[in-house]
Amino acid sequence: MASIEFVNVSKAFEKSIVISNLNLTIQDGSFTVLVGPSGCGKTTLLRMIAGLDPQTSGSVLINGKDVTRIAPGQRGVAMVFQNYALYPTMTVRENIEFGLKNNKVGKVQRTDLVESISATVGLQPYLDRKPSMLSGGQRQRVALARAMVKKPSVFLMDEPLSNLDAKLRAQMRLELIELHKKLGTTFVYVTHDQVEAMSMADTIVLMNQGIIQQEAAPDAMYHKPSNLFAAQFIGNPPMNVSDLGVDGVKFGFRPEKAELSAHPIDGHFTVSGYIATREMLGSETLYQIRQGEQSYMVKSMENKYSVDQEIYMNVDAHRLYFFSENGERIEES
Ligand code: ATP
Repeated sequence: MASIEFVNVSKAFEKSIVISNLNLTIQDGSFTVLVGPSGCGKTTLLRMIAGLDPQTSGSVLINGKDVTRIAPGQRGVAMVFQNYALYPTMTVRENIEFGLKNNKVGKVQRTDLVESISATVGLQPYLDRKPSMLSGGQRQRVALARAMVKKPSVFLMDEPLSNLDAKLRAQMRLELIELHKKLGTTFVYVTHDQVEAMSMADTIVLMNQGIIQQEAAPDAMYHKPSNLFAAQFIGNPPMNVSDLGVDGVKFGFRPEKAELSAHPIDGHFTVSGYIATREMLGSETLYQIRQGEQSYMVKSMENKYSVDQEIYMNVDAHRLYFFSENGERIEES
């Protein structure tokens, strides 16, 4: 197991600064998810931990030790890539064994390790197949197994589920949570998908343009976003935000926290409008509500309202968020 620290880390590619003066501690044994929009610097952070791209300035520490001069193979980390990077001409067994052979691990020990790790990730029936004869999810498991045989103290994963369909992604999310529990190793996982971040992480690090916007547990990230960016990145559809009409202050509420009604509900903050669109999602219905130029999304358990109907959105006062002109959330005192 291992903790990871970034101390005043900056990274520039030629003249463009991608990460500037970043400080972050990733706890030993945590499942930390780096999340943020495309190009915000998540992969760059991961590659700095792996030693694949050195930082321009500052230090990266693994278990308290500065690893700047330590080669990638000596850092005790294993990386799982989005495209899995499997050897197509080798069988599953050979793919998993490859790193062990290189490290001169003996045959008996290799066979034992491959057997036990393939059992952990459910690959035993496929050991003699080539990658082309596997499903996306099975290939993903081979990539994980190949990382696991190295017994790393840190797993680095870069969008490992993005090539899978929605159903398999959901299943693999659960498998990764289980695997993390079983191994107890530090996982650092990169994604732009907030659902993956919310469902798997014990700590989410939310980034935008190379800057950490918020570091929090999923629950706190959802309930106590530190700024407008966090409020609108986490949650689907994103938080509704609108001007309050005073001094640049904005207010916001989550689509699932507004109650619709034909008449305003007493004791609530109420916004009126008309229903512009209606989408049936199954157990819930998603309404788009317009008021002049402004539009709001409301997710409701009720599907009885129809398009063009006049409607009220009622929000409990303590479900309201306020943001200052610079986007910081104004905390209630
Ligand atoms: P995505 O979700 O799209 O993978 P990301 O958050 O992982 O994005 P990075 O890959 O870390 O983003 O890239 C951050 C920024 O650094 C981007 O603007 C990218 O264009 C730039 N960048 C990354 N690698 C290089 C490189 N080798 N040379 C020049 N610029 C680079």
